[in-house]
Amino acid sequence: MDPVLIVGAGIVGLTLGQSLKKQGIPFEIYERDLNPEVRGQGWAITIHWALESMFKMLDKSTLSRIQDVQVDPEVARNDSGNFLFINLETGEPKFKIPPNVRWRVSREKMRRALMNGIEDHIHWGRRVTGLSLPKDTHQVQLVFEDQTNVTGSLVVGVEGSRSIVRQFLRPDAFDNQNLGINFTGVAVDLTPEEIKPLRQMDPLLFQGCHPPTGAFFWFSMLETPQVNGTAGTGAERYRAQICMSWPEKRPEDKVASTDEARLVNMKNRAQGFVPFLQDAVNRIPAGTPVTEIKLADWECLAWDNQGGRVTLAGDAAHAMTMYRGEAANHGILDAYRLMQAIERIHSGSSNPSAAINEYENEMRDRTSRAVLLSRQACKDAHDWSRLDETSAILTKRAVLAT
Ligand SMILES: Cc1cc2nc3c(=O)[nH]c(=O)nc-3n(C[C@H](O)[C@H](O)[C@H](O)COP(=O)(O)OP(=O)(O)OC[C@H]3O[C@@H](n4cnc5c(N)ncnc54)[C@H](O)[C@@H]3O)c2cc1C
Repeated sequence: MDPVLIVGAGIVGLTLGQSLKKQGIPFEIYERDLNPEVRGQGWAITIHWALESMFKMLDKSTLSRIQDVQVDPEVARNDSGNFLFINLETGEPKFKIPPNVRWRVSREKMRRALMNGIEDHIHWGRRVTGLSLPKDTHQVQLVFEDQTNVTGSLVVGVEGSRSIVRQFLRPDAFDNQNLGINFTGVAVDLTPEEIKPLRQMDPLLFQGCHPPTGAFFWFSMLETPQVNGTAGTGAERYRAQICMSWPEKRPEDKVASTDEARLVNMKNRAQGFVPFLQDAVNRIPAGTPVTEIKLADWECLAWDNQGGRVTLAGDAAHAMTMYRGEAANHGILDAYRLMQAIERIHSGSSNPSAAINEYENEMRDRTSRAVLLSRQACKDAHDWSRLDETSAILTKRAVLAT
C-alpha cells in the first residue's frame, strides 16, 4: 500500500499517525511549521469523552506521556472539580456540571507527546499548496509550495480550520462562517496569593456571563508551580489563561490592532464584574500579548472523496467554536474511526471508496450537529436571559441544581 499522506501535525494528525503506526500501516505527515519549537505555548484543552477512543488506538507509552502533561498533576490525581458557569456580576454559580473523567492538558505539550516514536515520519517545513489525482491510478499526490510532490494512497487533510484540502474538495464553499462574536485572551503569571480566589472557584477552569452586557469570561489553568519548577523556591508562580468574548454590535466592538488597545478593551469590559474577577483582569500587565481567536465554524458539508482518495478530519472537517469544549474530542474520535477505515482498506476487507464513505457518513452526521450546537452555545454564552438547563452550552450534560 502506498503511504497515507497526512497534512498537518496538529493533535489530530499526530493521533492518526500514532494509531497507523500501531497498526503497521505506512503513513507520512507533512507540516508547514519549520520545526516543533516554532509555536508558543498555546492553550489548554480538556479531553473527556474521547479518552475512550484514545485508550483504544494509542500505545501505553504514548498515553502515559499525554497523561504526564496535564496542567495540574495534583488536581488530576483527585479531580473533584465541576464544570462551572457563573454569573460574572455576583460570582454565583449558575450551572455546576458534575465531574467526569477528564484530562486537562497543554495543547502544545500534548502535541509533543504525540510526536514521540513517529519523528521520522514527520516532515517539517512542508507547506501543502495543492493536490492532484493522476489519471488511471488509485493514487493521489500532494503538491508543496516549492512545487515538489509526493504520491500516496489517501490524503487526509487535518490542517486546521483554514484547510487547503477542504478548499480543494469544496472550492465553492470552503469558507468558515463568521459568528459576529469577538474573542481575545492572554496568558499571565500569578502569585499563589493572586490566583487563590480564582482557584477557589475551580482549580482548573470556569466560565461565566455578565448579565448586563453579555460579556463572557473564561479562566483556565496553564501551569502550576509543580509543573514550571518554581515550587518551593520562594518565587512560586502559576500561569493561567484569561479570555473574554463579546458580541460585535457596534464599530467599537471590533478587535483593535494593538495589544495595548486590546488590553484596554478587556479591562473596560470587566468593569462591573464581581471584584475578584475585575481585579484579575485589571492586574494583567501592560505589554502582555493579547491574542485574537476568530470565532467561525464550518458545518462539515458534503464533498466528493474521489473514490476514497481524499478526506478530512479534525478542525479541517468541522471547525467549531470552543463553548462546549468538544472540537478536539471529535477530532480524536475522527482519527479512531478513520484508522479503522484505513485498516479495512489495508487488510483488503473493504475497498477505499466504501471504507472512506462509511467513515465520512458517521463523522458528518455526528459533527454537523456538534458544529451547530457549539454555534448555539457560543450565542447563549453571551445572553444571560437564554441560559437555562436546555442551553446548548449544557446539552447532553447532567446539571446539578445550584
Ligand atoms: C481557546 C481554545 C480552547 C479550546 N478548548 C478545547 C477543549 O477544552 N476541548 C476540546 O475538545 N477542544 C478544544 N479546543 C479546540 C481544539 O484546540 C482543536 O479542535 C484542535 O486543536 C484541532 O486540532 P487539529 O489537529 O484538527 O488542527 P490544528 O491543531 O489546527 O493543527 C493543524 C496543523 O496543520 C498545519 N498546517 C496548516 N496548514 C497547512 C498546510 N497547508 N500544509 C501543511 N501543514 C499545515 C498547522 O501548522 C498545524 O500544525 C479549543 C480551542 C481553542 C481555540
